Amino acid sequence: MDATDHLKASLAVAVGLSNLFGAEMRQGRAANAPTAEAIREVLLLTTNRLPEVIVDDYAAGGRLLYDAFSSLPDVDPAVDLVNRLLIDTQAAPRLTRREGTPWHLHFGSPDEARGWLAEFATAAAMLLGSDEKERLRKCEAARCDNLFLDSTRNRTQRFCSTACQNRTKVAAHRARTA
Ligand SMILES: [Zn+2]
Repeated sequence: MDATDHLKASLAVAVGLSNLFGAEMRQGRAANAPTAEAIREVLLLTTNRLPEVIVDDYAAGGRLLYDAFSSLPDVDPAVDLVNRLLIDTQAAPRLTRREGTPWHLHFGSPDEARGWLAEFATAAAMLLGSDEKERLRKCEAARCDNLFLDSTRNRTQRFCSTACQNRTKVAAHRARTA
C-alpha cells in the first residue's frame, strides 16, 4: 500500500458523505434525508471498524464538505471551509493500530465521528493543495447534484454514475426523435 492510499480512500468517502448531506437531487430523484445506515455504508468503504453512527454528528461536517467541494473550481472559499474543519476537528497526524494489524497513519480517532471528519478534512486539504482538485466535479446530468472524483486518465468523466450517464443518453435520444 502506498503512503497516500489511505488518504485517497478517505477522500472518496469524504465526497460520498458530502453528497449525502449536500446534494438535493441525486440521480434524478429528490435526495432522502441521510440515515445512519447510509452513512455507515459510505464509511465502510475504508474500514470495517466503525463507531456507532449518529447522523447529527456528521451533519455539519458533511454539509461543510459539500459546500467546499462544490465551490470548486473556485479554490479560495473551499480552502476557508476545509481549514475551518481541520481546526474544529483538531485534525493531527498520529499512528494508530488495532492489535495485530500494521501501524496506520490517521488524523483523528477512528472511534468517534469527529475523528472521521478530521480524516476527511485532511483528505480534502490534500486535494485542494494539489492539481488533482480538477478531478472533483459536479455531475452534469439533469436533476443530479452529486459530486464525484473523475477517475479517468484524461479527465473526461461527466457523470457521477452509469445511471446518470444512461438517463442523459435516453433524454438526448428522446429530444432528437421528438
Ligand atoms: Zn449524477
